[in-house]
Parts: sequence; C-alpha cells; structure tokens
Amino acid sequence: MIRLRHLMSPSLLIAIAVATSVPPAVLVAQQSHSAPGLDRAGMDPSVKPGDDFFGYANGTWLKATEIPADRSTYGGSAILIELTDRRVADLIQETAKADAPAGSDLRKIGDYYTSFMDTVAIEAAGLKPLQPTLDSIAAIRDRKDLARVLGSRLRADVDAINATNFYTENLLGLWIAQDLDDPTHYSPFLLQGGLGMPDRSYYVDTSASMVAIRAKYQEHIAAMLALANVPGAGAKAAAIARLETRMAAAHASREESGNVTNGNNHWARADFGTKAPGLEWETYFAAAGLAGPATFVVWQPGAVTGLSALVASEPLDTWKDYLTFHAINSRAAVLPSAVGQQAFAFYGPAVSGAQKQRDRWKRGVSATNGALGFAVGKLYTARFFPAAEKARAKAMVANLIAAFATRIDRLEWMAPATKKEAKAKLAVMKVGVGFPDTWPGYAGLDVVKGEAYGNAERASLFQLRASLAKLDRPVNRSEWVMTPQTVNAVNLPAMNAMNFPAAILQPPYFDPARPLALDYGAMGAIIGHEVSHSFDNQGALFDATGRLHNWWTPEDFKHFERSSKQLVAQYDAYQPFPDLAVKGQQTLGENIADVAGLTAAYDAYRLSLRGKPAPVVQGMSDDQQFFVSFAQSWRSKSREPAMRNRILTDGHAPGQYRASTVRNIDAWYTAFDVKPGEGLYLAPAERVRVW
Ligand SMILES: [Zn+2]
Repeated sequence: MIRLRHLMSPSLLIAIAVATSVPPAVLVAQQSHSAPGLDRAGMDPSVKPGDDFFGYANGTWLKATEIPADRSTYGGSAILIELTDRRVADLIQETAKADAPAGSDLRKIGDYYTSFMDTVAIEAAGLKPLQPTLDSIAAIRDRKDLARVLGSRLRADVDAINATNFYTENLLGLWIAQDLDDPTHYSPFLLQGGLGMPDRSYYVDTSASMVAIRAKYQEHIAAMLALANVPGAGAKAAAIARLETRMAAAHASREESGNVTNGNNHWARADFGTKAPGLEWETYFAAAGLAGPATFVVWQPGAVTGLSALVASEPLDTWKDYLTFHAINSRAAVLPSAVGQQAFAFYGPAVSGAQKQRDRWKRGVSATNGALGFAVGKLYTARFFPAAEKARAKAMVANLIAAFATRIDRLEWMAPATKKEAKAKLAVMKVGVGFPDTWPGYAGLDVVKGEAYGNAERASLFQLRASLAKLDRPVNRSEWVMTPQTVNAVNLPAMNAMNFPAAILQPPYFDPARPLALDYGAMGAIIGHEVSHSFDNQGALFDATGRLHNWWTPEDFKHFERSSKQLVAQYDAYQPFPDLAVKGQQTLGENIADVAGLTAAYDAYRLSLRGKPAPVVQGMSDDQQFFVSFAQSWRSKSREPAMRNRILTDGHAPGQYRASTVRNIDAWYTAFDVKPGEGLYLAPAERVRVW
C-alpha cells in the first residue's frame, strides 16, 4: 500500500518546476484576489455544491485561467511557488551584488547563482567541464572499472519515507536515515535507480501514450549523444533504451516502493555478492564512499538483484554508452544551451506537457535552492516570516493536536492500550514551524565563480558527504528535510516529527489578515493531514521513538481496513480520462489523511472559537467559509500528460478529487444543504470516518 508522507510529491514539484514564470502583473492579479478573504469571484454559483464542490468553489477561475505555456500544471500552489521563487530570486540577486566575504554562505549563494546565470561562460566552456567524467567512462576496460565508475556516481538523492523521492538517474540512490529497527542510529538505505524516464511504467505500459513517449525517448538519447559528438548515436541509443527497458523490468513499481514493510530489508555487506551477484560490490561501495558500513537497508531487493545481474550480463560497451548519455543528460542545466534545449524538448512537451522552457533565472533559483537551500532559507525567513506569523501557526498546530487527542479519546473502535500509545506518540511529537532551530552549514562546499558545472558536481558530492557523515553521529530529531522556502509540508515518521515550512504559511493556505475559518479550512486541514499520518495505518507501524514496530491490535486494523476499502472504492470511481481512473489503492494513505485532516481541522476550528459565534463574512457562514477555503486550497489545472504522469506515479489524488473529501464530513452536508441524489452525496453509512 502506498503511503506518501507529505502534501505534494517531488514529482509534482518537478512537474511544476519544469515550468516557468508568469509575468509579474499576472502574478499580482492572481494574488490580490486570493487574499485576504475567499476568492468569491473565482467561484461558480451556477454549480450546485453537492454536485461538484470543486467546481462550485473554483469554476469561474477554472474557466478564466489558461495554463501558462511554460507550465504543465497551474493553480494555488503553483502561484505561491512563483511568488516565493521571485522573492527568493530577489534575495539571491541582492546577495550576489553584496560582495560578501569569501567563504561565507552568503558569498556561496551569490557565486552559485551568478555562475548558473553566466551563459556566456557556459557556452565558452562547451563540453570541457564534462570531459574528465567522459574520460573516466571511456577508460572502463572491465567490470571492475565499471563498478568503480557506477559507484563514483552514487549520490544522496533519494528518500523513501520522508520527502518520498524514489527517483535517481544513477544506478542506485542513497538515503541516510534513522534505522527503522533501531532509530537511535542512522543506516544507509539503497534504492533502485538508473532510468532516464520518471518510472518503470514509462517502459513497460502498453498504452498508446507510453509507446509514443518511448519512441521519443530513444530519439532524445540519440540527439544527446550526437551533441557530444559520439559516433553511431542512433544504434547506441537503441541499445541504451533496450538496457533501460531491462532495468525497468527489474524495478519495483511505485506502489511496491511505497510499502515501508517491504522496504525494510537489512543486508549484511557480505550478503550482496550472494543475494545480488553481478556488480563487484566492494569496488562499488569503496568508490561511493561506503567503505565503512557493515549493514545496508535494501529498499527494493528484487530490483537491486536484477540491476546487479545486468551489470554483469549486458555488453560493457552498452554500459559505457549508457553512462555517457546520463553524464550529459543529468547535467543538461549547466551545459551549453543546445544540450539544455534538447533536454527540454523531451522532458518538457513529451513528459510534463509544458510547452515552453521556464526562464533561466527560475532554474537558477531552483539550482541554488538545491545546493544551498538552508542558507537561502535563513535569508528568506528573516525577511518574510515575522514572529507573529510563527506564533499564529503554532497556536493552530496546538489546537489541531488537542483536537486529535480528543478524537483519540472518543474513538470507539481503538483498543485502550492502542489509545495510550497514540497519546504517548502525540505527546513527544516534534512539530517544526517555519524553520529549523539550528541551521545546517555549508562549510565544506567550494563554490567557484564562473564554474556552473563544477559547482553542481561539488554540491552533489557535498550532499553525499554530509549524508555519509551522519553515519557516525547520534540521530538528530530536530533536523529538517524541507527548506523553509518550500511550499509543502511533511511528516517524518521515523523521527516522529513534522516540518511546516514558512513558505506554505502564506495565502491561499494561511493569512493572518483573514478570518480564522479560512486558515483552518486550508492550512488547518494540511496540518491535520500531516498529524494524521502519525496515527494512520503507516503511522501505526512506527512507535513514539520512530521504531518500526506495530502498536495496533488486529481489531484496530480490521476497523481501519473496512474504512480503507470504502475509501478505495470512492476514489476508484473518479475517472478523469476514459482509459484512466484515479488509483484508489495507490492514493489510499493520502486520502485517509485528507479525511482525517479535514475532520480534525474542523474540530480545531470549533475549539479556537471558545464558544463564541463567528460572523458571516462575504455572505457566508463560517462553516461555509471553512469548506470553500479547503476546496480553493486544492485549486489547480493540469495538462493531460502531467495529469496522466501524476495518476500513474503519485501517491496523491489530483486536486479536484482531494477537494471532494468534504463529502465524508457531516458538517459539510449541513453547511450547504446537500441532499440525496446530488453528485457527491453519500448516505451517512457510506461516509468514511476513520478518526
Ligand atoms: Zn500526506
């Protein structure tokens, strides 16, 4: 069963990021009507709330809004990301001009961004910065050399349960996190990788759209090799595509990868040679900086076995061509524009649906955030996250936690011993609001002005080394996995912790200038969503210390499974395309969190009133405001390829269906007088009540 822990998946953020800038004027217009109240003008009063609540709350906006050419998906979060990126870009550009002392984080930020933006230097350098890598690949003479080069490419670029990023272009990805059996120390986790397309389904699905993408991918490989003057690019591209298809066949599905119990496989170092023969593991580990660990967690054992076998069975030359292609492909952003344009020609229109590449300054902001995220976040929160907002958000978190505690007490189906454990977990939960208490430093990272490619390489190596260094240190539960300037939120199950970055504490989710009902309907439901992950079927697997140890009784699970089945059926019935429905099972964990989060947010809102009546605002009762604010927080439009990608690979349902969560809450029926026969109507017994 899939259980993503955060609000939006990295793949969605990547899809958003493939896009680019809205002109500033549009941005201002979009922002001004979303704050400080509800966007009444964006609603469609001709739609009956009980038939289509998403359409009722957003219909006029949906009709009036064109997805910008450079975007694959667009809506409230994309607009907020745009605003935040622009502010971050301004900060970064100011920093670049400030001439900060050499070696300081500020200087690194400025130099990293300036170098990324220096397209004259990038064009002048051509493929020269790539040459040492290409030379090391060309020098591969045997399988030992191959293992060494594959190992040297390993990076700390995946995350199985916190940020849930399962994608890496390298053969394997590394994640250093608390061991799930003994959360007092860190363990190295190895995840499957190596594909140039987002997921195995792109290689194995028989649908016409996937078949078409596969043909385009092979053309893309050939074009990239040709740009690097590799002879015989066409035949080599065919062989590389064949190799990746075999790799994809060995991969676990996205759904299997999301199952924590499947993933928690401890392999002793010596086991690799027998459990996954093929790759020369000792050489691989040594080249990756993993000479030390005696034990690894192998997240997708079948894939690691399959990939390792391919390292031995496929022709050495195919592997060398494969590595050459990926060396270019993975660094397209900092190579000459012909390479970047070719990468966009494939990953833009074909994969994400975006028609125009986003502006370079936006890509520069993303790259700088990727390399020096917390240094940038320190600047961002100092400027844009006043102490009063932090206090208001913390008060909301406290009410949500109180509402949850009350719900746990009142649950009839949960055994008393389980309730006790749940309350203990709630009591020691670490909820981070805005930014971390201590900021990670970048002392070991060299940033050289004028070396965009070199900086990118050094930043990814710095991240690898910083992750590896954790293996020798005690677990730090206060560590953040999202930067403060990220428009998202995350539950960290093995840390019994949560991060609510400063950037999501903005309209349309949160705004100190508007009625509380709106904040609880939007941000409150997000906080409730994240808190509920600690107590859902996946949260049940992790105890208060973060140990993977089931603290539910079999009866607790039975009740949960009954509710789950109802919710799977509810989402399976949503059909955005004639040949593709929402995957109720794949999105189950997130849909449960949406129901639980909205329920708890509603209780927490009532709690915040302390018995006082709330005023009618903009012609709506506070309950109406609460639910419309929720549905407007999911406002978005997607192009078809992005929507299909999301349905296939994402643990979250598309926004329009997440907005329909309201149909499980009794108060929504009263607030909008929803009657039997209306599209979203569920009889009381069909409404899913987990908490
Ligand atoms: Zn979630």
